[in-house]
Amino acid sequence: MSKATIRSPRRDLMGSPVFDELGMERDPDNLYLQTVDSMLHAAEILELPHRVQIILAQPKNEVMVHFPVKMDNGHHALFKGYRVQHNNALGPYKGGIRYHHHVGLDDVKTLSCLMTMKCSLVRIPFGGGKGGIKCNPRELSEGELMRVTRRFVSAIADIIGPDTDIPAPDVGTNAQVMAWFADTYMEISDKPNANAVVTGKPIEFGGSLGREKATGQGVIDVLAELLPEIGLEIKGATCSLIGYGNVGSWAGKLWAERGGKVKAVMDHTGAIYNEDGLDAIALDEHVRNHGGVAGFEKTKHGADAISEEDFYSTQVDVFIPAALEQMITEDKAKLMNCKLVAEAANAPTTPAGERVLQDKGVEVLPAILCSAGGVTVSYFEWVQNRSNQYWDLERVDEELNRHMVLAARRVQLARHRFDVDMRTAAYIAALEQIGNVYKLRGIFP
Ligand code: GLU
Repeated sequence: MSKATIRSPRRDLMGSPVFDELGMERDPDNLYLQTVDSMLHAAEILELPHRVQIILAQPKNEVMVHFPVKMDNGHHALFKGYRVQHNNALGPYKGGIRYHHHVGLDDVKTLSCLMTMKCSLVRIPFGGGKGGIKCNPRELSEGELMRVTRRFVSAIADIIGPDTDIPAPDVGTNAQVMAWFADTYMEISDKPNANAVVTGKPIEFGGSLGREKATGQGVIDVLAELLPEIGLEIKGATCSLIGYGNVGSWAGKLWAERGGKVKAVMDHTGAIYNEDGLDAIALDEHVRNHGGVAGFEKTKHGADAISEEDFYSTQVDVFIPAALEQMITEDKAKLMNCKLVAEAANAPTTPAGERVLQDKGVEVLPAILCSAGGVTVSYFEWVQNRSNQYWDLERVDEELNRHMVLAARRVQLARHRFDVDMRTAAYIAALEQIGNVYKLRGIFP
């Protein structure tokens, strides 16, 4: 994956005839359109039938709900929630629920499409969905968070279920939210295995061992498999991370555990740096206690506070964005000094940012590959719930590794077969499976 091997750079935006046919705009700043554009670019190279291309260009169902919740001060507030079901050709819709004050329909549509691609790429029998509530969970009390969750579940109960659509945690939600989610659904539904309606539950309440660390672990599994391609191995290699929440902290800790150095970390509170490698475990504890990385430089663990600009320009082998979408813009990409980007967050690289990286010879390992570990262990949780047999951690880790390594190899293979970049190759490997299933199933009637 060195400079000489980067092929088929991104073409002009939204060149697919499907955009005109479906009356979709050509707004290059719209995340949903960017995502569909990348997917259709791969679909064209693969020669995916037109009928499958138009199906995948729009989600199957987009549900928006408004619901009132009694706040601690006695007043009622109205909340807006979403569940988008992108595609279920491979199995029930699957994907997280995000609580964030910027959640909107286009983001949820984008993320649902990425879930379809992720599940197909790692070959788990799920389609793609995503949901969210527009709210700031940090401003809600525990009781308010619970009531918001329960009202949302009752609002969408008819369209979700262990056989139809299975939510999970995402940004702003966690195992506790999933426990309230499952409990509410179990009260409303008379379905057997009703607890399998969500994954990412607490271990005591049907969760899977290893689910919490799974997304970060999947990133490391993919890097361990692909770094040798560019003459590197994790041991002795350096990385920087944006975000030190669930995904970032696990990626950082597991990277360090395998002998890599975490040189710099940035989040919404600031950025820190240590040439010899930050103490990934101490940093995790600091972030849990203080809400962010800021202030770590004042602890005994050795770190310097740095500016955002210095963070991006820090020289590392691997740059791992593990926070929100669209953080690597053109300007940020110009600053970056790395050999490889591993997208641990969903859609963190803008198309303009990606073009700058490609020009520099930096390959981007896309989110549908790198961040698929979470949904993979969600699948294991769903299997365990339905069979009432629970796996030990070794089995979870081993099965996760197998799925991630095979997915990475599938992407490599598509890259060599079609002479394309890793993002396009990942879409091709995902679309091939969906195309095969549509061929077998046909289109009703
Ligand atoms: N929200 C996670 C993702 O974006 C996990 C989804 C799941 O486990 O269903 O991949």
